[in-house]
Amino acid sequence: MMSSFQRTVVCALLLSSIAAHSQRKSAQPAPAPVQPIRITVDATHAPEKILHAQLQIPVTPSQGRVTVTYPKWIPGEHGPTGPIGDLTGLQFFANGQRLTWSRDLVEMFAFHVNVPAGVSTLEARLDLVLPAPPEGFSSGASATAQLDMVSWNQLVLYQPGKHSDDIPITASLKIPADWHYGTALPVENEGNGQINFRTVSLTTLVDSPVLAGRHFRRFPLSAEGPIPHFLDMASDSEAALQVPPEVINEYKRLVAETGALFGARHYREYHFLLTLSDRVAHFGLEHHQSSDDRVSERTLIDEDMRVLAASLLPHEMTHSWNGKYRRPEGLATPDYQEPMKGDLLWVYEGLTQYLGEVLTARSGLWNKQQFLDEAAETAAALDNTPGRSWRPLQDTADAAQVLYSSPAEFQSWRRSVDFYPEGFLIWLEADTVIRQQTNGQKSLNDFCRLFHGGQNTEPKVVKYKFDDVVSALNQVAPHDWHKFLRDRLDTYGPGAPLGGIVNGGWKLVYDENASEITKGQEKSRHTVDARFSLGLALDEKGVVRDVIVNSPAWKANIAPGMELVAVNGRRFNGDVLKDALKAGKANGTDLEVLVANGDFIKAVTINYHDGEKYPHLVRDESKPDILGEIIKPLAEGK
Ligand SMILES: [Zn+2]
Repeated sequence: MMSSFQRTVVCALLLSSIAAHSQRKSAQPAPAPVQPIRITVDATHAPEKILHAQLQIPVTPSQGRVTVTYPKWIPGEHGPTGPIGDLTGLQFFANGQRLTWSRDLVEMFAFHVNVPAGVSTLEARLDLVLPAPPEGFSSGASATAQLDMVSWNQLVLYQPGKHSDDIPITASLKIPADWHYGTALPVENEGNGQINFRTVSLTTLVDSPVLAGRHFRRFPLSAEGPIPHFLDMASDSEAALQVPPEVINEYKRLVAETGALFGARHYREYHFLLTLSDRVAHFGLEHHQSSDDRVSERTLIDEDMRVLAASLLPHEMTHSWNGKYRRPEGLATPDYQEPMKGDLLWVYEGLTQYLGEVLTARSGLWNKQQFLDEAAETAAALDNTPGRSWRPLQDTADAAQVLYSSPAEFQSWRRSVDFYPEGFLIWLEADTVIRQQTNGQKSLNDFCRLFHGGQNTEPKVVKYKFDDVVSALNQVAPHDWHKFLRDRLDTYGPGAPLGGIVNGGWKLVYDENASEITKGQEKSRHTVDARFSLGLALDEKGVVRDVIVNSPAWKANIAPGMELVAVNGRRFNGDVLKDALKAGKANGTDLEVLVANGDFIKAVTINYHDGEKYPHLVRDESKPDILGEIIKPLAEGK
C-alpha cells in the first residue's frame, strides 16, 4: 500500500543515521550493527478488545538485570498518557527460559527483568486490553466489531538510554482476513493476513499508526509533484463510506490550500486515517505523515454532523508543519520517558487552531457564515471565562498535562486547555496586525512560509523557542511582538483578547437567535446552552455541567452537578427553559426553578429578565472586512 518511493527514502534515512553514528566513532573499531527490535502484533482479536504482541528486544544487561520501559509521554497528547493500566499478560523470556520481573517502585512505566548471564535478546509477550467507553484520547476506545486503530506506542517496550531516532525496529501486524488497512508506515511485503513493515526508527513507528477495518475505503486526494495524499477511512458500516463527491473535492482543495499556505511539505506522503464510528473515542492525533482522526459514524454523510467536525482534518494536517516539523524545544523530547514541557502550546496548538479553522474555510469545508459563527462561539466562551481573573493563558499551557483530563464541572472558573481557542484569537489578531502594519502587503501566510516552509524535506524536527517565534514575526512585519505576545499570555483579563475580531472589521454581539453552529452543538452533544443568559451549561436532562461564576444562576446558588428539575412549575426540558426565558423577558418575571442537589430538592429564584442570548459576529462597516480577506482561498484555480 505504500509507494516504493517512500520505502526507499525511509530506508536511506536509517542507513544515513547509522553511517553518521559510525563516523563519529571512526577512530575506534567499527561498532557491531545495531540490531532492530522485532515486534509482531496480533490484532485478529481486536473486536474482542484485546491485542497480543511479541517482541524480541536486543539488550545489554547490567549486573544480571535489564530495565525496559513502556512509552509514557505520548507525542501530540502532551502528557503522560501511555495506557500503562491496560498493559497486561506481561511475560519475559530469554533462551527459552521464563524470567522474573518487578516494576520500578517510582516509575510505573519501567520494568526490571532478572536475566541469566550472556543474554543479548530479551523476549517479551504482552497483551493490550482495549477500553470500551467511547471517550479519551488514543488510549481510549479504538476497536469495534468492524475496525481497529493500532497505535504502536501502546504495544512496545524498549531499553531506555538512546534517542528513539537511534532505535531501529521491525514490525509485523496480523489483522482479520477480510479487513483492509491504511498507514504511512512503509510496507516490506504482506500475505496470509500478516503485513510486514520495513525497519524504521522507533520514532517513525510510534509516529505511524495503522487503521484497519472490514468496511474500508481509500480516496486519493491531490498529489503535489511526487507527494501523494490519501483519505483512508474505516467505518462500522458501508453506508457511512458513501461520501458525496463534493466533500472529497473539498478535501482535495484542503491539500492544495496547505501547499499554498506553507510553500513546502515535510513528508513523503500523507494519510488521513479517518475512523467513522460511534463506539470509539472522538479526537484527532497528529503525526508527521498521517493523522488519527476519529469521528461519529455518519459524519461524512450527514451535513449537520459534517459541519461540526469539519475543522478536525485541517487542524490535524496543519500539525504536520506546526507541531511535528517545527516543534517547541520542551516538546521535542529524546524518548517517551522524559517529561514534556508545554509552555509553547499556545503556538503548537493555538496557531494550529487558527490555521486549521482558516483552512477549513479556504477549502470550502465551511462557508463564511460557519467560520464566523465558530469564531463568535470561541470569542464569547472566552470572554465569559471568569477563571482568567486568576489564571493567565500561559498557565493553561504550562499545566496542559493536568487540564486535558479535567472535568467540565467548574471549567469556567478552573479554565481548560484554553490555549487552543484563545490561541485562535491571538493569532487572528497577529494576522490583522501584520496586515495593518504592511498595508495589506504581508500576512500570517508569510510567517507560515518563513517559519514552516522552506524546501520539501522528509519528516524531521526543527526545534524552536519563544524568541524564535518573535524573531520570525519581526522578519515579516517589524513590531513589538515580544510585548504583543506576553501581554496576551500573562494577563488576568478581564475580557478575552478580541482585537483580531475588531481589527478584522467585525463585532461580537448577542441576540436571542442561536446560530446554526450553536444549534448543531446542542443537538449532537445533547446539551442546552444557557451560558450567555443564565450562566448555565446543561445537559438535555437538566444536569448542570457548569455555572459561570457571578452569573445570575451562580448568584442563585446553583452549582455544577445539581439538576434543574422544573422551571416555572413545569418539568425541565430545553424548550421549557427557553420558553421561560422568553416569558421572563416579555413579562419581567423571575425564573422559579426546582433544583436537585443529590437527594435534596430546593426552590430557587433566578433574577434574570434578558431572554435567550447567543453570540454572533456582525460587520463593523467603518472598517474593511479583513476576516473575509483572511479566509479567501489562496490556491484558487489549482
Ligand atoms: Zn492539535
